[in-house]
Amino acid sequence: MFYRKVYRRLFFDQTCPLCHVHPASSLGICEGCHVDLPWNLFPCPSCGISRDHPDDHCRCCNHKTFTVDRTFAALEYRFPLNTLLPSIKQRYSLHHLGWLSQVFHARLEDQIDQWPDVLIPVPMHALDLIRRGYNQAAILAELLGKATSINVTHSAIIKTRCSQRQHNLNASQRRTNLIDAFCVTSRPIADHIALIDDVMTTGSTLNELARLLKKQGCKRVDAWVLARTPDPDSDEDT
Ligand SMILES: [Zn+2]
Ligand SMILES: [Zn+2]
Repeated sequence: MFYRKVYRRLFFDQTCPLCHVHPASSLGICEGCHVDLPWNLFPCPSCGISRDHPDDHCRCCNHKTFTVDRTFAALEYRFPLNTLLPSIKQRYSLHHLGWLSQVFHARLEDQIDQWPDVLIPVPMHALDLIRRGYNQAAILAELLGKATSINVTHSAIIKTRCSQRQHNLNASQRRTNLIDAFCVTSRPIADHIALIDDVMTTGSTLNELARLLKKQGCKRVDAWVLARTPDPDSDEDT
């Protein structure tokens, strides 16, 4: 019975993995679900927060400085992303990364002004990696690397100690929490790098990684994130 189900899913089941009703299109999900995704149509180029209009001033960026040169955020971290992405972290829905990377790639093709030389996924600490078994940002980076033919480097930055989840901390604790948490292992890596992550909330981790890369001579660091939280103090890490 179990094998029959798996076989059906692999070879015959072309239904949309989101609604499980309509046939999936070449986008990996059905057209209705694709339209209904929480698109981040006009992300702020600095912090990735969704704006109503491309010329709108971003209120979240007031008085803030960013080391990341440009942020590209494909979607907003709202339903179904806010249920899908945590479930991917708990191993239940890993197969969703396939169509999510397709959606991500299509949005990047619309928005990117200059393609980077190398993609680097936001690293996990070795102990967390052993515990979970995979880094979803690394899988996303591999899928995007394949789609864009850009090299992916996994070992250029390592996480040297387990930090606390950023969203539980205030601004100064967030800065302290990241001190010496990462280490750039090789140089020079490339002139233009894109950091890859699934969710961006505070942006502190991405900015810290950009700072370290620039210290090693990197000229431009972008952040490519699948989903951006609408509110900086909401749910997810990074
Ligand atoms: Zn659907
Ligand atoms: Zn902004």
